[in-house]
Amino acid sequence: MIAKKAIVLFSGGQDSTTCLAWALNQYEHVETIGFDYGQNHRIELDCRHTVLARIRNDFPQWAERLGEDHLLEIGVLGRISDTALTKDAEIVLQNDGLPNTFVPGRNLLFLTLASAVAYRRGCTVLVGGMCETDFSGYPDCRDNTMKAMQVALSLGIARPLVIETPLMWIDKAETWQLAATLGGDKLVKTIQEDTHTCYRGDREHMHEWGFGCGTCPACELRAGGYSNWQKETRP
Ligand code: ZN
Repeated sequence: MIAKKAIVLFSGGQDSTTCLAWALNQYEHVETIGFDYGQNHRIELDCRHTVLARIRNDFPQWAERLGEDHLLEIGVLGRISDTALTKDAEIVLQNDGLPNTFVPGRNLLFLTLASAVAYRRGCTVLVGGMCETDFSGYPDCRDNTMKAMQVALSLGIARPLVIETPLMWIDKAETWQLAATLGGDKLVKTIQEDTHTCYRGDREHMHEWGFGCGTCPACELRAGGYSNWQKETRP
């Protein structure tokens, strides 16, 4: 265990829940931060509480390291961006090749706000689920973007701040495996039942990989990763 305090960017989805487990596995004290920016589907924010409660109940070794949860309201992000995550629109590819679920500057803003909270709380590590491997093309999920942010924020708050991205170079099947390695079947079950990924906010249809419409890009990625993981580990 590393005697450091970390803050996990925690949305209540599969990736950030896996990152939270990763952080709880190695840091002495772990806090969580989430953002309410007027996303269409409030279900994500409810999932955060369910997952945190389940970790406190079912994982005593992690519960004692799990600290405060911070939920920041940043409605301004929803007001300045026009995307399928905050407006009721079909998910399509834009002319620039990015899906219209891309919220420009979102991760940059999240990390900046998280660094301010980290400063106040004495945390020196930010953990996020950004990933370049299966990535939906979001430029603010790239490794170089994260490295640039780490340098900018460390200079800007005049304290060393490390951005850890445990999922950066692994695919969705490996993300399921990482959860299994860190927290066994119990954590996999938590991710299946309590986390949310679907862009359409569907909590009616339960699949073996979790709730979701099954056809939006986020569901397809999550379902594909699960099925590949099953094939690799339980052929
Ligand atoms: Zn979906």
